[in-house]
Amino acid sequence: MKNHRFRRIFAIITLILIGGTIITGTVLQGQAEAPRITIAVDAGHGGTDGGAVAKDGTPEKDLNLSIAILLREELEKRGAEVILTRTADDDTDGSAEGFFKKKDLERRAEIGGREGIDLFLSIHCNASTSTADKGFQVWYGMQNQEGERLAESICGRVDEAKICTRIRAVKQVPEGLYLFRTLTIPNLLIECGFLTNRQDLELLKSTDFQKSLCNAICDGIFDYYSGIK
Ligand SMILES: [Zn+2]
Repeated sequence: MKNHRFRRIFAIITLILIGGTIITGTVLQGQAEAPRITIAVDAGHGGTDGGAVAKDGTPEKDLNLSIAILLREELEKRGAEVILTRTADDDTDGSAEGFFKKKDLERRAEIGGREGIDLFLSIHCNASTSTADKGFQVWYGMQNQEGERLAESICGRVDEAKICTRIRAVKQVPEGLYLFRTLTIPNLLIECGFLTNRQDLELLKSTDFQKSLCNAICDGIFDYYSGIK
C-alpha cells in the first residue's frame, strides 16, 4: 500500500518535471525565434541610370546593388523573407528599350505595395557639392511614422558598430520623392555614405565595410520587430 502511494507520488512529480521542461523549452524557444518579417530591398538606380558617380568613376548603382545583395543574405540568415527590386545591373522600368524614370519608380513602388510586405528599404549612396560632407543617414517616408522609429533603431546599431565616419540625423524624406510619397508601409531611404567624400568612398568600396554595415542594419531592424511582433 505504502509502496503504491510512493510510486504514484513519484509518477506525479516526474510528470510535473517533464511538463515544466516542455513549457520552459517552448518559452525559451519562442524568445530565441526571430520575428517573421518580409522585406523589400531596393537597390537604387541600375542600368542606364547610374545614380551619383564618384571621382574615380565608381557608379552609385553598383555599390547599391552589392550592399542590397549582402543585406538580403544577412536578413535571410536571420529568418526574414526578402524580395529584391533588382538583382542585376538593370533598371526596373520593364522596358527593353530606353529608360523611363517614372515607370522605373512605379515598378519599385508596386513591389513595395505588394501584400504581406512589412518594410521597404531603398539602398542609396549620397553625393554633395562639398567633399567634406560625409556619413550614414536614414530617411523615412511620410505616410508611415513607424519608419521614424525603425530609422532610429537602425542608426543606433550602426552608431554602436563604429564603422561609419558619422551618423547623420534621422529625417523625413522630402515630399517630392515619388517612391517614398507613395508607399504606405514603413519605408526607409538608406544613404550608406557619400561618394563625394574620400573616406566614405573608401569604406563604401570595401566588402568588409559593406558586410559590417548590413549586419548593423539587420540588428536595428530585428531590435525593432522583436519589440512589436
Ligand atoms: Zn541614389
